[in-house]
Amino acid sequence: MSAPVRLPAEAPSGPGESAERGCRELPLLRERGQREVFCGLTGIVWLHRKIQDAFFLVVGSRTCAHLIQSAAGVMIFSEPRFATAILQERDLAGMADCNEELDRIVHRLLERRPDIKMLFLVGSCPSEVIKLDLGKAAERLSLAHRGRVRVLDYSGSGIETTFTQGEDRCLRALVDELPDQDELPDQEEERRSLLVVGALPDIVEDQFVRLFDQLGVGPVHFLPPRRSTELPPIGSGTRFLLAQPFLGETARALEARGARHLEAPHPFGIEGTLEWLAAAAQDWGVSRERLEAVTAQPIRRARQSLERHRPRLAARRISFLPDSQLEIPLARFLERECGMELVEVGVPYLDRQRMARELDLLPASVRLSEGQHVDRQLDRLRADRPDLTVCGLGLANPLEAEGLRTKWSIELVFSPIHGFEQAADLAELFARPLERRERLEV
Ligand code: SF4
Repeated sequence: MSAPVRLPAEAPSGPGESAERGCRELPLLRERGQREVFCGLTGIVWLHRKIQDAFFLVVGSRTCAHLIQSAAGVMIFSEPRFATAILQERDLAGMADCNEELDRIVHRLLERRPDIKMLFLVGSCPSEVIKLDLGKAAERLSLAHRGRVRVLDYSGSGIETTFTQGEDRCLRALVDELPDQDELPDQEEERRSLLVVGALPDIVEDQFVRLFDQLGVGPVHFLPPRRSTELPPIGSGTRFLLAQPFLGETARALEARGARHLEAPHPFGIEGTLEWLAAAAQDWGVSRERLEAVTAQPIRRARQSLERHRPRLAARRISFLPDSQLEIPLARFLERECGMELVEVGVPYLDRQRMARELDLLPASVRLSEGQHVDRQLDRLRADRPDLTVCGLGLANPLEAEGLRTKWSIELVFSPIHGFEQAADLAELFARPLERRERLEV
């Protein structure tokens, strides 16, 4: 584990900078009950944009098709890179051979779309209920279309999952496809490479590539890659950084293939980005002076832009309802760099080990909860009445009707929010609903 990097002296800090820090050992409020979250199919919306020659075929119901269609807002004449193979009543009743039908659909699709180089069969609640084995289907179809397309599978089902787990499962499926770096004859030091894990907008990836390049850290690869034909090699020389906090399964699969996780906070805000870069810099033996020299300019710019939003956010109280798994790193950013006061930070599930570095930075007084019992959560929220509540779409409107300001957590997954250059945009996403309220009151 690396020592935390100190921010430059004039960096913004939260109201509780003097408060006791660290909630690794803090008791957790565990809730199990009705949950209000989207399912893992939602991830297709950003993943299909990222892997430009991949196609996502959901094997599901009309509900699944509607979810994807409305979440992605696709136009009818466009050639989207996702679709739903709809299970009919006969399939669900076990009266038809779904495998034959699936094979037919895939053959037709690949004939019509020679641009597809990787096909994901995405499982759903209905396909899981009828126990349709998409793993076997993927193997069979991969064989049938060998040399032309790779067929993989993962589950986007909403049973006991949250919407960002769709990306985790997609990337987990990709890990098995990565070429083995250890088969190359070089020494481990020569094979050393950095893998950044988590779908990032291209523009953010480019910014990180420039920073790693200036630090002398590399070669750098990204998972997922922009094209399925550019899968990064992996092995004992691979170090990886998580760009997103919801990739536990993928991380475990990478470790099983010999890669080593560089523990760090996630790259949200100035502090998170600096510590994240520092973890790689330290592993590559880059000096503290060089790290500070490379990051000085972007930090200065980020701090200046962030200052615009601090007056709107400082001393405001915020609660996070469990939804995206981004809650802890965002709470850390808002408290430490924007001066907000944390009331409750709820997460769908807590992996204390992977989140250890983030938990160290939260104030020890924070109320941390895991899972959801929606009625109890709403009771606490009504008693707390924070200035801003980050929650899923389904709860936002009723809460607004009760006079509580809300922020949709799903928007945070769709927007470029990583890195120094995006720190102010990230703050603005939280400042905007508060500003709107003030305007309305005037
Ligand atoms: Fe609904 Fe399940 Fe389909 Fe998601 S996968 S849209 S939760 S039926």
